[in-house]
Amino acid sequence: MIPGNGIGPEISEAVIKIFKAAKVPIEWETVEVAPIIENGKAVIPKPAYDSIMKTKIALKGPLMTPIGKGFMSLNLLLRKTFNLYANVRPCKSIPGYKTLYNNVDTVLIRENTEGEYSGIEHEVVKGVMQSIKLITYEASLRVARFAFEHAISTGRNHVTVVHKASIMKVSDGLFLKACDDAAKEYPQVTLERAVLDRVCLQIVQNPDIYAKTVMVMPNLYGDILSDMCAGLIGGLGLTPSGNIGKDASIFESVHGTAPDIAGKNLANPTALILSSCMMLSHMNLRDYAERISNATLSTIAEGKVLTGDLGGNSSTTEFTEAIIHNL
Ligand code: ATP
Ligand code: MG
Repeated sequence: MIPGNGIGPEISEAVIKIFKAAKVPIEWETVEVAPIIENGKAVIPKPAYDSIMKTKIALKGPLMTPIGKGFMSLNLLLRKTFNLYANVRPCKSIPGYKTLYNNVDTVLIRENTEGEYSGIEHEVVKGVMQSIKLITYEASLRVARFAFEHAISTGRNHVTVVHKASIMKVSDGLFLKACDDAAKEYPQVTLERAVLDRVCLQIVQNPDIYAKTVMVMPNLYGDILSDMCAGLIGGLGLTPSGNIGKDASIFESVHGTAPDIAGKNLANPTALILSSCMMLSHMNLRDYAERISNATLSTIAEGKVLTGDLGGNSSTTEFTEAIIHNL
């Protein structure tokens, strides 16, 4: 457990209480992650690194990125340190929380290590900058395979690869090839190609079209499209995510540290609770994940005990107690 900063400790506390009430058979090891500089490079503190390498699993509250030279985003640092190659973001409409749509049920998998995020940028000549979008077969195949596995384990049996190979013929072309090759290993799953701009158009017109598939795509497309999906179900307060890696997997809420409400017992813990449910499914503790997720969603649907962001006036603690009652 990495409680994190801002509202992090309060929402982590909610998860710990709920796990205890649900008698989830896990033991927490709590570590802090504040970056330290070693030989001019930002690194994860050793106790946190050792703990995550040992358990292979972490639940993480939001982290503040310190301002100053040498500090890269902590999320990027964690991704690099633990080879977190796939970012999984499910977005499902929450009954009782009204938005423009009530039928959203998307699953998006974002390649998490390369593409435009490779950090290779330079000036060619004065007034001309170049940024390299790096796509490797290895990373593409790895995330494609993960998408197929995920499709099978969630019963979707359909994968949509989102691309722009019409323009980036070589790089996105390679990503498509990796998906084609992965598809051969999973004959029970069908693969479909969809162009990014068309997906954006269709998803806001009728999100239903994407309710029965797992979308997989290169890094930057995933970054943008996943925020769009989050927007369809009401934004950041409710969206969970998982970073799946070679050395470990880290689950986290999509929102930040919310400094404006930190320490006031006002935060909505739903996103972190749903992230913890993704973590439990990943650990093959599906029954516990389902019970906790159902109790949380029915608390919201009842509409009696809600935090401020959901239009209620209950505290984090009261909301958590209501979920425990529903368990
Ligand atoms: P950071 O720099 O860490 O991202 P931020 O100032 O951008 O912090 P966010 O956490 O991204 O803040 O949140 C944006 C807005 O949404 C804030 O007003 C915050 O209070 C609200 N918010 C975010 N998460 C939650 C939550 N879990 N419960 C209630 N409100 C939230
Ligand atoms: Mg923010």
